[in-house]
Amino acid sequence: MKTKQEYIDSLRRLNFEVYMFGELMTDIVDHPLVRPSMNAVAATYELAQGEIMTATSHLTGKRINRFTHIHQSAADLVQKSRMGRLMGAYTGTCFQRCAGMDALNTLSVVTYDIDRKHGTPYYERFLKYLRYVQDEDLVCDAAMTDSKGDRRLRPAQQADPDLYLHVVREEEDGIVVRGAKLHQTGALNSHEIIVVPTRAMREEDKDYAISFAIPSDSKGIVYIYGRQPSDTRKLEGKTFDVGNLFYGGHECLMVFDDVFVPWERVFMYREYEFAAGLVEKFASYHRQSYACKSGMGDVLIGATQTIAEYNGIADAPHVRDKIVEMNHLNETIFCCSLACAYEGAAEPSGTYYVNSLMANITKLHVTQVPYELARMAQEITGGAVVTLPSEKDFRHPRIGKYVAKYMKGVEGVSAEDRMRVIRLIEGLTMGLGAVCYLPESMHGAGSPQAQRIMIARQTNLKMKQKAALRLCGVE
Ligand code: SF4
Ligand code: FE
Repeated sequence: MKTKQEYIDSLRRLNFEVYMFGELMTDIVDHPLVRPSMNAVAATYELAQGEIMTATSHLTGKRINRFTHIHQSAADLVQKSRMGRLMGAYTGTCFQRCAGMDALNTLSVVTYDIDRKHGTPYYERFLKYLRYVQDEDLVCDAAMTDSKGDRRLRPAQQADPDLYLHVVREEEDGIVVRGAKLHQTGALNSHEIIVVPTRAMREEDKDYAISFAIPSDSKGIVYIYGRQPSDTRKLEGKTFDVGNLFYGGHECLMVFDDVFVPWERVFMYREYEFAAGLVEKFASYHRQSYACKSGMGDVLIGATQTIAEYNGIADAPHVRDKIVEMNHLNETIFCCSLACAYEGAAEPSGTYYVNSLMANITKLHVTQVPYELARMAQEITGGAVVTLPSEKDFRHPRIGKYVAKYMKGVEGVSAEDRMRVIRLIEGLTMGLGAVCYLPESMHGAGSPQAQRIMIARQTNLKMKQKAALRLCGVE
């Protein structure tokens, strides 16, 4: 396994074409806007020891980072949920490495299934690729979401054929692809990009039914860095105004401008009838991964309890009750994520897959719970969550004393400590960190309606009706 430092050094060797604020960036590893997100991924290396964060490779028998592991049992799936919570609480942000793990597991199920039907060589190719990822301890970025254009139209019906990523030509030793993937979490902290389709496909869409993996700095990939609320605070030098001092997330718009993919890295090619199953599997695995948000919830609850104490309101019955409610909701996420793991079962390839219905329940809770927690945290924090003077004012020779005097809460706690906690809560609930706690909870791994559709499809209503009718004597 790589050390944290080896991981950071490995990123320096990558040669990205990346744009930020209209400029081509050269040194992104040390760029203050990118660095916190890289720190979060680096933590997946830093903490890689013990049963939760590491596993035994079923290919080589070696100890590997769990983020590169293929689940061999329900116990593996349970450790994955625990890892998400642990990492979420340690970083207080999105640590970006889960979608790649989920794509690897999805491919280990789906490539096997395609081969069984079509006699294709995808599973062997995939295992060879997996071995490389495990041996080198790589970060894989899963690229699923296309730009989708007119949402009423299928991929092949769009006015512009590039609105979904597709193959533009075949060459002797591979294929050339064009299109874009959006909202690419942690793209610039990744060694590899794993592309998968974003929706069910029909025969006419078969040029869009493709999956492959390529190095993240492959020729023809252009990264356009996404803005986040308050992002330029990170450019102000070292300041507690950023809230979370160490970690953050980032997203990119990733453009594939005629990118070549060699055949040995193609894992699905025009088998359109497997696209729906692939999407469903990836979505379910990634919806389980949202145990990460219960870890972030731990941080927000910890900050909220602290600010309640600093404000002198921790003993008020309604505040105590809200803290209990925050815990109740937060644990619900974790309970769901654990449940879908414990109920996991083996697929034909031997890979363990979560209980899909329960994974969807997990994620649907995640689209709601963090917003509720954020609301209660802001209520308990008070208006200072949006009106706090800056750290520079706090340090100012003339006015600093006023800030220190009037930003104080209870005796015995400094204004600085109180301001730091308020900044953390501001960040998590509306600033820099909120990207990973709120909209990512809403839309990451699919928007809520996607989960509702899956719940409707997977619920056995007939069985429930039968159970009811037997008890009241209806035949
Ligand atoms: Fe992992 Fe959560 Fe970030 Fe998704 S949102 S990559 S599950 S930390
Ligand atoms: Fe996500």
